[in-house]
Amino acid sequence: MAERVLLTQSTEETILRGREIGKRLRPPVLILLSGDLGAGKTTLTKGLVSGLGAAEEDEVTSPTFTLVHKYDGGARVYHVDLYRIESVRDFDTLGLEEIFDEPAVVIVEWADKLNLRTDWPVLRIQLEHVSETGRRISIEDTSQLL
Ligand code: ADP
Ligand code: MG
Repeated sequence: MAERVLLTQSTEETILRGREIGKRLRPPVLILLSGDLGAGKTTLTKGLVSGLGAAEEDEVTSPTFTLVHKYDGGARVYHVDLYRIESVRDFDTLGLEEIFDEPAVVIVEWADKLNLRTDWPVLRIQLEHVSETGRRISIEDTSQLL
């Protein structure tokens, strides 16, 4: 179980790294993104979605208010943001169970807020501020990547 740590110096570089990771993903996989507000979870997701060929990076916006966005340009990708969800709520009450019905790439921001139950392979990625434009991206287990 190898960890991989990347350092990026700009928004564009994080998107680029996300694109590289996205090309190495194989559904079904659940990607749990953790990190503070502004750490770059949504920015990385732009790259992941574009690397998967599901949508252009500019089409990927934060689902903070809508809870989930679906991109279906070839690969099926769900982008979930639990930021506004109270931690007492259960995943089953959000009406999102069907996202696990068929193989997909499910990307979840603020995943630690809820207990996500699935038998899918999980890829955990942690993002941290290093400086104003510097970010540390830690991939917990690279064996999930092709
Ligand atoms: P989160 O989804 O984790 O709250 P966002 O991706 O929405 O974070 O926001 C990250 C913000 O930080 C964006 O405004 C982005 O342009 C900026 N930023 C600056 N440097 C970087 C970097 N190296 N990687 C990612 N985002 C960066
Ligand atoms: Mg976000």
